[in-house]
Amino acid sequence: MRVHTDEGITGIGEVDSGPTVARAIIESPLGHKVWSGLAELLIGEDPLNIRPLWDKMFAGTVYNGRSGAVVHALSGLDLALWDIAGKALKQPVYRLLGGGYRTRVRAYASSLFGDTPEKTFELGRQYVLQGFTAVKFGWGPFGRDETLDMELASAAREGVGRQADLMFDVGGAWDWKTAIRREEKLRAFGPLWIEEPLSAEDLAGYAKLTECSRTLIAAGESEADLPAFDRLIREGGVDVVQPDVARCGGLTGAMRVADIASFCRRQVANHAFKTGISIAASLHFLAAIPNALILEYSVSDSPLRQRATVQTFPVVDGYVEIPRDPGLGVDLNMETIEEYRWIETKR
Ligand code: MG
Repeated sequence: MRVHTDEGITGIGEVDSGPTVARAIIESPLGHKVWSGLAELLIGEDPLNIRPLWDKMFAGTVYNGRSGAVVHALSGLDLALWDIAGKALKQPVYRLLGGGYRTRVRAYASSLFGDTPEKTFELGRQYVLQGFTAVKFGWGPFGRDETLDMELASAAREGVGRQADLMFDVGGAWDWKTAIRREEKLRAFGPLWIEEPLSAEDLAGYAKLTECSRTLIAAGESEADLPAFDRLIREGGVDVVQPDVARCGGLTGAMRVADIASFCRRQVANHAFKTGISIAASLHFLAAIPNALILEYSVSDSPLRQRATVQTFPVVDGYVEIPRDPGLGVDLNMETIEEYRWIETKR
């Protein structure tokens, strides 16, 4: 999405949600004081007033928002406001977030499992050959059957070799007893973390699992609002917290999540499975927090992942550089945007 200012600066943001739903949430006219379209709340405001505007958008959608799609839509606007601020002040966004703990961040290849163990082995081998030092496999056939899970995990480890870090993403497929049993068995393959083993609602299950798991447990991509992250961290005991900047209230929301995680001595590994806009914003985010673990780097061949932005964020020696240009440091590749646009812009 793009947000335009009267001084001619355009901010770029991304929403990871249902596009038509997010669009309606932004473009709806004012209903009343606590139920408004988000654009209505921003027009005429000073775009550098990012946190007050975040609060205004949150307060102006209390009846229909506070989480879910409204906070997803708010996230994209927040990212665009940070981009505007960086461009106006001629600074990369991470500097405005308080400065950088690092100039580059290690990235992991984020991939779906292959349909078979053989295909998974081959994918793992390829990612390591491409220079990744960490690989995550998730979803696909994984999570349904113990024997198949072990075969897939074994093939993944063989594919990436003994040196690389390896993670498994279960996509919420298990109950807590299955998760405890499966974690014990998956230890044989030395995973850095097991992600979303349980449904996001099962805080009691997360609490039991994280109590006895020797493998780090990661979760957070399903959450949008701060209280949900707080519960996941404090009640669920999750070790690696995974806010998505295009879902959790933008960089403003993500920084607050990282603060809670930091107080509780937990690490943060962003979630991002969309375009280069999310990747750029996630890089600024991970640069600006002390407890950043690693960057999610989708290796999907989707054109929106590969070609929505001019910048491609190459992985060199397993690392991606933090953008240094003013703002988020991304330009839209308008050819790709036009190719996949399917609703005419009215604003
Ligand atoms: Mg995931």
